[in-house]
Amino acid sequence: MKILVQKFGGTSVSTKEKRKLVASKVINAKAEGYLPVVVVSAMGRKGEPYATDTLLSQIDDDFKLANPLAIDLLMSCGEIISTVIMCNELNNNKIGTLPLTGGQAGIITDSRYTNAAILNVDTKRILSILKSGKVPVVAGFQGMDDKGYVTTIGRGGSDVTAALLGAALNAVEVQIYTDVDGIMTADPRIVSEATLIKKISYDEIFQFADQGAKVIHPRAVEICKKNNIPLVIKNTMNECDGTVISNFDSEDDNNIITGITHMNNRVQIKVTKNSGSSYDDLFDILAENFISIDLINVFPKEKIFTIDEKDFTKFTDLTKELNISYSYVSDCSKLAIIGSKMRGIPGVMARILKALTKQKIEVLQTADSHMTIWCLVETKDAQEAIIALHREFKLG
Ligand code: ADP
Ligand code: MG
Repeated sequence: MKILVQKFGGTSVSTKEKRKLVASKVINAKAEGYLPVVVVSAMGRKGEPYATDTLLSQIDDDFKLANPLAIDLLMSCGEIISTVIMCNELNNNKIGTLPLTGGQAGIITDSRYTNAAILNVDTKRILSILKSGKVPVVAGFQGMDDKGYVTTIGRGGSDVTAALLGAALNAVEVQIYTDVDGIMTADPRIVSEATLIKKISYDEIFQFADQGAKVIHPRAVEICKKNNIPLVIKNTMNECDGTVISNFDSEDDNNIITGITHMNNRVQIKVTKNSGSSYDDLFDILAENFISIDLINVFPKEKIFTIDEKDFTKFTDLTKELNISYSYVSDCSKLAIIGSKMRGIPGVMARILKALTKQKIEVLQTADSHMTIWCLVETKDAQEAIIALHREFKLG
């Protein structure tokens, strides 16, 4: 059985016109002898009637806090609506279908509502639908716990649903259809000169995904890598080949940088040592309070790191309790300059800093690993910084 998982994101299923294009991708896959398993996201983005954020905006924050199980039931609706409407479109094209919730598709999770972990994928029902010649259309981003309650698996989770089904069904490929041609050298909404990356390794794309490029969920990359399933990112609106992700290095000429991505809403914190405080235990205390930190630099009398803006109030409350003094810079963006070929090549950091200084952009902090260099800048400078670096490394 040549099973092909095809996942269509929110914008791909948002209008009748686009759903016709989705149907054509499924028809083509069938014509080529594949057995497609379709995964869909909720239709459209925030503001549109059935988008996840729109559904969430209908209930109060205090109700949300106290009722994660109810939130999951609400959030799961967007994808469920999508499955039925997509089945309708496929039906118009004479393709027999069966719409399935995540739970009906066999996706079993733990009970951590709103961010559940997948425990098992039971493929029995999907396999029997495929054997009957029909196309299963599965609601992404959701599963079911052992008590039968609906769960969701975290934002962007439809990519994860597709990867999980791909692995469990031993699919020949997982295709992620979206509103861009594939993975680009930078977010095309930010850098108009961004170009398509045709081939890239799981490891490099993981860095992109993990460091803020929304286009694919990092967990989906991990699952496909672990199961050695080719992952392809394509545009629903055209016939472009897209980005193929596999075990190879990006083939792109000799460029040491593959692309640039970024993450907003970072706060840079500088904590100074003052006697009698819990300074030495600070990182333990932050971990106990589920505040995750990064870009960590430790000096004898100072610790510098960044946290997500959403944790800042919790952080300030803790510092009052612990008598810790600190200063901070809010509205920061963490740029990630990614390239597996930069390892061992001297002068990359120098080039980055020079390119940014030339644009009079202040770099607040840097860090590096074998495949990525990070630069923290103020968010007001982020777009200009990304464009400058994109030009410096001739990615356009
Ligand atoms: P979907 O609804 O199809 O899942 P997403 O919004 O999750 O779509 O992801 C697609 C978006 O990712 C694009 O519209 C683009 O703006 C953004 N994006 C960010 N970084 C990149 C990148 N390096 N390459 C391509 N797209 C990117
Ligand atoms: Mg997405």
